[in-house]
Amino acid sequence: MPTVPALATAGADQDLKRSTIERREPGAHDVVIDIAFSGVCHSDIHQARSEWGAGNFPMVPGHEIAGTVSAIGAEVSRYQVGDRVGVGCFVDSCRECENCVAGEEQYCLKGNVGTYNGRGYDGEITYGGYSTQVVVNENYVLGIPEAVALDAAAPLLCAGITLYSPLKHWQAGPGKRVAIIGLGGLGHMGVKIAHAMGAEVTVLSQTLSKAADGKRLGADHYYATSDEQTFKDLRNQFDLIINTVSANLNMDAYLSLLRLNGTLVNVGLPTEPASYQTFSLVGGRRSLAGSMIGGIRETQEMLDFCAKHGFGADIEVIGIDEVNEAYKRVLASDVRFRFVIDIATLHAPATS
Ligand code: NAP
Ligand code: ZN
Ligand code: ZN
Repeated sequence: MPTVPALATAGADQDLKRSTIERREPGAHDVVIDIAFSGVCHSDIHQARSEWGAGNFPMVPGHEIAGTVSAIGAEVSRYQVGDRVGVGCFVDSCRECENCVAGEEQYCLKGNVGTYNGRGYDGEITYGGYSTQVVVNENYVLGIPEAVALDAAAPLLCAGITLYSPLKHWQAGPGKRVAIIGLGGLGHMGVKIAHAMGAEVTVLSQTLSKAADGKRLGADHYYATSDEQTFKDLRNQFDLIINTVSANLNMDAYLSLLRLNGTLVNVGLPTEPASYQTFSLVGGRRSLAGSMIGGIRETQEMLDFCAKHGFGADIEVIGIDEVNEAYKRVLASDVRFRFVIDIATLHAPATS
C-alpha cells in the first residue's frame, strides 16, 4: 500500500502535525487522485476537536478536495488520467437504500462513509484531503469544470453544495426573499448561489465589518444582528432563511423574520441542543428545517452551475504549516471566506 504525506491530529486536544498515512491500492472501480488543494471547513475543526462525539484518531481532516486523476482501475469508465476532479464529504454509501437510489446518498439509510473520520464498509478508517493523494470509487468522484480554478473549486465540494441543495429544494429564485445568517465559508457561497438563482439576498452578520464584501458577492441588503433594530426592521420579511452559524442562536428572534409559510433551514451544526418556542412557528405557519450537503448528482449540477455563472469560492490559500493558525482564525470569524491548503507545500520541507 502506498504511504503518502498527510497532516494529522493525534487527539482532540492536539495540534495538527505532518505525518504519513497508507492509501489502498486502487481497485477496479477506483480513481487515484493527486490532491492539489484542500479546503478548511468548520466541520474539520468540530471533528478534530471531538465536538460531535469522539473522533477516530489519528485523524486527517479535509472533505473539500480538488486535484487531478493520476491512475484509474481497470473498470473505471467515468474518468481518465489527467481529469480535473473533486471529492466532497463522503466516499461511499450502500447504493441500495431508497435514498441512495434516489441520488440522495448523503442520507444513505445505512450511513454514508465520511471522507475522513469515518469507517469504510471494509472497516478501515478513512483519511481526508489534508494529504497528497486519495483513492476513491469513481461513483463518488466529481468532475471539476475547466471554468473554475482548482483552488477556488475545492470549497464548492462542501460549502458550495451545502448551500446549493437547500436553496434549490426550497426554490430560491426570482421573487423570493432569502436571508443568509453568517458570512463565513458556507454563508458566502449561499450569497453567491442565491444571487445567481435570482433571489433577493440579505446577509445577517454579527457586525457590518464585511458589508462591502457581502455586496460584492451579490447581497442586496446587509444587516448587523448585534443591532436590535435589525429584528424590528426585518419582521415577517423572508421566504427562506439559511442559518450557517456554528453556534446556537436565539431561534425565536430569527423565526420572527419569516413571512407566512416561510422556512428557516439550519445547516450550521452547533454542539449543544437548540431550543425555540412553538408559538414562533404556529403564528405564521412557519417551518424549521435542516439540510446536509447534497447527493453526487446534485453536487455535479452545482459545480456546473457555478462554472456557468463564472464563480468559485473566495479563498485565502495557505501552506500546510499554517493550518493550525487558520483554525484559530476560523473560530474568530476572521476568514474571507475560505482557507484552502496548497497541498504542494505538503510535498515540500516543513517551514517551521
Ligand atoms: P465559518 O466559516 O466559521 O462560518 C460561520 C459564520 O457564522 C462565521 O463566519 C460568522 O459569520 C458566524 N458566527 C460564528 N460564530 C457565531 C456566533 N457565536 N454567533 C453568531 N454568528 C456566528 O464556518 P463554515 O465552514 O461556514 O461552517 C458553518 C457551520 O456549518 C459549522 O457548524 C459546520 O460544521 C457546519 N456545516 C454543515 C454542513 C451541512 O451539511 N449541514 C456542511 C458543512 C458545514 P459573521 O461573522 O458574518 O457573523
Ligand atoms: Zn464541510
Ligand atoms: Zn444507502
